[in-house]
Amino acid sequence: MAWASSIDAFFKNFKRESQILSEETITLIKCHIQKNDLQGALSVIHSALRDIESAPLNIAVTGETGTGKSTFINALMGIGQEDEGAAPTGVTETTKERMPYPHPKLPQVTIWDLPGTGSTSFPPESYLKTMKFSEYDFFVIISASRFKENDAQLAKAIAMMKMNFYFVRTKIDNDLANEQRSKPKTFSKENVLKTIRDDCSKHLKKYFSGKPQIFLVSNFDVSDYDFPKLQTTLLGELPAHKRHVFMLSLNSVTEATINLKRDSLKQKVFLEALKAGALATIPLVGMIRDELQDLNETFNLYRSYFGLDDASLENIAKDFNMSMDELKVHLRFPNLFAEDSNVSLGKKLLNYIELISSITGGPFAVRFYYRKTYYLQNLFLETAANDAIALLNREALFEEKMGPYISKAPDYWE
Ligand code: GDP
Repeated sequence: MAWASSIDAFFKNFKRESQILSEETITLIKCHIQKNDLQGALSVIHSALRDIESAPLNIAVTGETGTGKSTFINALMGIGQEDEGAAPTGVTETTKERMPYPHPKLPQVTIWDLPGTGSTSFPPESYLKTMKFSEYDFFVIISASRFKENDAQLAKAIAMMKMNFYFVRTKIDNDLANEQRSKPKTFSKENVLKTIRDDCSKHLKKYFSGKPQIFLVSNFDVSDYDFPKLQTTLLGELPAHKRHVFMLSLNSVTEATINLKRDSLKQKVFLEALKAGALATIPLVGMIRDELQDLNETFNLYRSYFGLDDASLENIAKDFNMSMDELKVHLRFPNLFAEDSNVSLGKKLLNYIELISSITGGPFAVRFYYRKTYYLQNLFLETAANDAIALLNREALFEEKMGPYISKAPDYWE
């Protein structure tokens, strides 16, 4: 059946680290469709969507005080060090308890700040038990210098529990600056990074037989060094249904992360459209009116995932000494909502559906509605992702002399 192979083709389009359905789930949906069992396909899609939306994600970050653990947690979540909900940085006090940091935009995601093993004097196994190791999806072990024996033994214990861990070496920017200052003639960034990587690896290998995954990062420059690679590695190694929420929780610091978010959301929109398409039965304009409300909420969520929510935009506007209106001139998404003759996009859609409904009165209106909302969500996703990418290079964006690009309303509104 053409439908089944187009589903397969759609999901195969995406890179592994952005796929939100497992191979098994895709195969299962395909099998149901091939057997003409729409109800079966629908129930797989339904439970896949439920898993994707509600999958909890708990990340353990461990390391000694002063290594940059709190700064790393904030960098991973995309929170400014001084924002509300940020992990407090530069605090020298050591606690023996784990501290939860819920993600400010995604309640399913919590990053846990675990005390370093050195400060608890527990052997690794009891440390893991006390820290409730089974609750985490993976561990990040942080060091600001070479990794120590403690770190390697902890990793070994985590591996015994069949869980994933990643070594993160912070403050790389400091090391590079110091080397450059002390050896300005022979300084080579690549050589310094290689030396640090080899040194960490050598120390870990003394205690730990596997090939350790080491990421050299600067928490102040998350679009550089190994931070982006860390993000894609974590995504690639998470189970598929957990990727969506992790992807959304990530700081949109590179074009690659923004593209991953867009791809992840595209798959979700596609699944929702499949579900809605299979469900489309009786057209009820009232129900559609409620759903339009949801559509608005969906758009607002997308904005916040891409850092285009009002709070984020206000911060950017303040940085550049401009008003919100001046800032929005440079972005495309507000044009999608621009009201000409006081009629919003949603209202136009509703009017259209009411009109078609009154003429045909049939299920055509519903099919039309789902096709258009699917189209709109994709249009919005593309626009929001492009705006977020443009904002990454905001200096260049604001200097543009050409003026803004105005998205024209699609022809079918006319
Ligand atoms: P924690 O005690 O491990 O939570 O460490 P903090 O996150 O409070 O960081 C300790 C200090 O190191 C603070 O002054 C941070 O600003 C600084 N710091 C953290 N990460 C980095 C980094 O990647 N580069 C540099 N240069 N400084 C960092």
